[in-house]
Amino acid sequence: MRFLKADFIYPISSVPVKNGILIVNENGSISDVLDPVINREDYQQVLNSGNDVETFRGILCPGFINAHCHLELSHLKGKLREKQKLPAFLRQVSTMRQAGEDEIIEALYEADAEMVANGIVAVGDISNTDHSFSVKGNSKIHYHTFIELFDFHPNRADDVFDKGKQLYNSLTSMGLAGSIVPHAPYTVSPKLLKLLNNFSYDDGAPLCIHNQETESENAMFLNKSGDLFTFLQNATSLYTDWKATGFSSLSSTLVHLPNCNKIQLVHNTYSTAEDINWAQLYSMLIWWCFCPNANLFIENRLPDIPLFIDHASKITLGTDSYASNWSLSIFDEIKRVNQSYPEISLEILLTWATLNGAQYLGLQNKLGSFEKGKIPGVNWITNIDVETLHLSGMSEVVPLC
Ligand SMILES: [Zn+2]
Repeated sequence: MRFLKADFIYPISSVPVKNGILIVNENGSISDVLDPVINREDYQQVLNSGNDVETFRGILCPGFINAHCHLELSHLKGKLREKQKLPAFLRQVSTMRQAGEDEIIEALYEADAEMVANGIVAVGDISNTDHSFSVKGNSKIHYHTFIELFDFHPNRADDVFDKGKQLYNSLTSMGLAGSIVPHAPYTVSPKLLKLLNNFSYDDGAPLCIHNQETESENAMFLNKSGDLFTFLQNATSLYTDWKATGFSSLSSTLVHLPNCNKIQLVHNTYSTAEDINWAQLYSMLIWWCFCPNANLFIENRLPDIPLFIDHASKITLGTDSYASNWSLSIFDEIKRVNQSYPEISLEILLTWATLNGAQYLGLQNKLGSFEKGKIPGVNWITNIDVETLHLSGMSEVVPLC
C-alpha cells in the first residue's frame, strides 16, 4: 500500500482536496482519498502510524486518456512540413507513409513507451492497417482501436466495408477492443456510412470521425468549391460525380450515423455555435475531441474552445499522430490550451484529459478518476503555482503508478 500526499489531489469525480492523502493498494487500485478536514481522524492516523507517506509538491491526478491518436503513423515523426493546411498535409501523408515494416514497428514501440512515460493509460487509436495490433497486445496502455475506412466513391463501399470487417475480426480475435469508423465527411459516401451505421447499431461501440478540420471542408459540401475539393478532384477521378449537399460537412454526415452510439467529433477547428447546437440536438452522445498541437501543426489555428464549453459538455483531448505533432503527450495538449485560453481552469482541463475520455471509451468503471476500486494510474504534475493553480512552462507530468 502507498500513501501519497500532495498540495492538491484532484479525484476528478469530486472536488480537489488540499493537502490530501491518496491511498493506493499494491495492485494500483484506489483505496481512499483522505481530506485533512473531512477525514480528520483517518488522516491523522495515517500520519501517526509510522507509514511511509510520500510527499509531493504539486498535484496528483488520474492517468490521462488520449482520445485520438494514429499510432501506426509514428514513423513519420519529424518528417512532414508544418503549417501547410490540410490538403497539403494529406498529400504528404499519402506519399510518405509507406516504409519498411521494421521501421514502422520500431517507431510503434517507441511511441507506445513514450505515451506510458507521459502518464497516458488509455488511447482511442485509429488504424488503417494491422501494423499496431501486436504492439497494442503487449502494451500497458488500454487501446480501443478505431478501424478507419474511406471509400471515395459509393461503388467501392461494399468492398471497403468487407475489408474493414476482416481487419476488425483480426483485431478482436487478439482480444483487443475496437470499432469500425468513417475517416472524414469528405472521404466517405452515404452508402458506406449506412453500412457502418447498421454494423455499429448492432454492436453499440463508440464511433468517431474527423470533423471540420479545415475551412474548405464546409465549402466543399455547401457548393463543391474550395482547396479541399480541388485537392481531392486532382488526386482521383472518383470525385467527378460527387454532389454537394448544400449543408455543412458536419450535418451532411452526422445524419447517416446512429444517434444511439457515442460519437466523437475530432478537431472541430472550424465548427461554429450553430454546428455545435445542431450536433447536440441530433444526439445526446456527442463528444468533442481537441488535438490543439496538431491543429497548430497542420492549420496554424486553434478551435474556439471556450465556445464549446458554453454549448457542449463532453470534451476530450487527443494528440493525433506523429505525422502532425511534436509529441504524444496529453499533458502537452493541456499546457497548450492553458497557454492559449488561461481562463479555462485546470480542473476542467484535467476532467477532459481523464474522466471524459474514459466515459467515451466505456472505461469509466476502471479509469478516469480516484474512486475506490478503480485502477486509474496516478500522475504527479510538478511546478505549478499552488496559490493560483496555474501551470508554468516548467510544469511536467510524472507517472507514479
Ligand atoms: Zn486524426
